[in-house]
Parts: sequence; structure tokens; C-alpha cells
Amino acid sequence: MSRSNELYQQVILDHNKNPRNYRTIPDAALVCEGHNPLCGDHITVYANVDANGTLADLSFQGNGCAISKASASMMTAYLKGKTLAQVREIFTEFHDMVRGEFDPRSRENHLGKLTLFEGVKEYSSRIKCASLAWHALMGALEKKPSATTEG
Ligand code: ZN
Repeated sequence: MSRSNELYQQVILDHNKNPRNYRTIPDAALVCEGHNPLCGDHITVYANVDANGTLADLSFQGNGCAISKASASMMTAYLKGKTLAQVREIFTEFHDMVRGEFDPRSRENHLGKLTLFEGVKEYSSRIKCASLAWHALMGALEKKPSATTEG
């Protein structure tokens, strides 16, 4: 197993066991339930945006496989405090990366440690697990009650 694979496994296990921001936000202005029918993952994302357009709080809850939960955990930790413009930019980079359409080494990007998820592009069924929380967050920002990885 390569070093990056080993690191990937460790991070997934850690976030799955101790997910960050795993809670509801009772007064959340934005809530969206994401569903990945392919794997059966359900991830609900809660968010509040402050007057400056910054993601002031972000959390999730749900049931899903280790990859969907680890991805949601890392996403919430990484995006909290970012502006909505940054969030949209990072979403596009992440989404393109996991689909194998963007190589994070090819040009400057804003993915930081999220590049760990690059490996899922080799496993088509896992791409949707890794991007589920992201679709739910985008749905929440568009004030949609639910989002799916399909279509
Ligand atoms: Zn899954």
C-alpha cells in the first residue's frame, strides 16, 4: 500500500470514528437532507451564514458508509469560516477532482487536505459517497430541502 493510501485509510477511519461537527444546529437557517441511493447514505447538513456572507456554522448528521461520513466531517471542518464565494469555488474543485476531471497537482487550488479524497476517482461507486455532503451543502445554500447525488 502506498503512503498516500495509508494516510487516506487512517484519516477516513479517524473521521468516521470521531466525526467533527456531528450535531444539529437547532436554529439553522439552512438545512438540506442529502441522499445517495446508490449506497444508501443519508447526510443532513445544517448551516448558518452571517451578514458578511461567511459560513458561520456548519454541521451534519446522518447514517452512511465510512467515506460519506468522513467526507462530511472533513468538509464541515474545512469550510466553517469560509465565505460563500470560497465555498462554491472549493465545491467545484472537489467535485471535479473526485470525478477525475481535475488533478490537484496540475494547478493552484484551494483543496488543502481535501486532496486526500482524490483516490476515490478510481472507484466510481465511491465518488457519490465522497460528494454527498457537498451536494447537501449546495442544496442548503440554494434553500432546497433535499438533494441527491443523482442527476
Ligand atoms: Zn456510501
